[in-house]
Formats: sequence, C-alpha cells, structure tokens
Amino acid sequence: MSKYFSESELACKCCGQLPAGGMGERLLQVLDAIREAVGSPVSLSCAYRCPEHNAEVGGVPNSYHIQGIAADVLVPDGMSVDELASIAEQCGAKGIGRYYSQEFVHVDTRGYEARWEE
Ligand SMILES: [Zn+2]
Ligand SMILES: [Zn+2]
Repeated sequence: MSKYFSESELACKCCGQLPAGGMGERLLQVLDAIREAVGSPVSLSCAYRCPEHNAEVGGVPNSYHIQGIAADVLVPDGMSVDELASIAEQCGAKGIGRYYSQEFVHVDTRGYEARWEE
C-alpha cells in the first residue's frame, strides 16, 4: 500500500479499476519517496489504465500503465519538469519521461533504465 496515494488516485480514470494483482509495490515506494522529497502533496494525472482507456488515450498496447507499474506525476507549483524528473531519478524510478508541454513526468519501474522527453 502507498502511504500518500489512495486507491482512487491510482485507479483507472475511466472505470475506477485497479490491476488484478494490485499496483506494483515498487512503483508505490517510488511514488511515496517522490512525495516525501517534494515535501508537499503531488497529483497524478494518471496511474493505472485499463486496456480500453489506454487505447483511448493513445498509449502503446503494452504500456506500463496497463501493468500497474507507471504513473504520470504532475509538476507541483513552483517546480520545473527537470526538477521533478531529477527527484524521480533519485527516488529510484527506472523509466522517466519528461513531458514539457503537458507539465508532467512519467515514472515507471520497468526492469531497465529508460529516458525520453516530449
Ligand atoms: Zn478504465
Ligand atoms: Zn505515463
């Protein structure tokens, strides 16, 4: 379980479902660590996506969001995308995507490091 994020914040935005096996433990640890490092509440634009919702928003079919090991973290007021991305890095995220125009950072806990930006 996450210390800071409720199930409703992690659930799919379209249907309120969570993955069958629950959200990835490692992801929850990373999200809690990010929340602590930021020092104030952070919002998620999405975490789990059911396959239908994922397709709707144009996610890749095997998205880490569908696997319950990814979340898009909105950049808190007064912080930059780069600052949040480096916090995510320090907190142990494996996949880190910087979305400058939408002002969020994608974090996931896949088995290898990946970095990208849009
Ligand atoms: Zn859904
Ligand atoms: Zn994402």
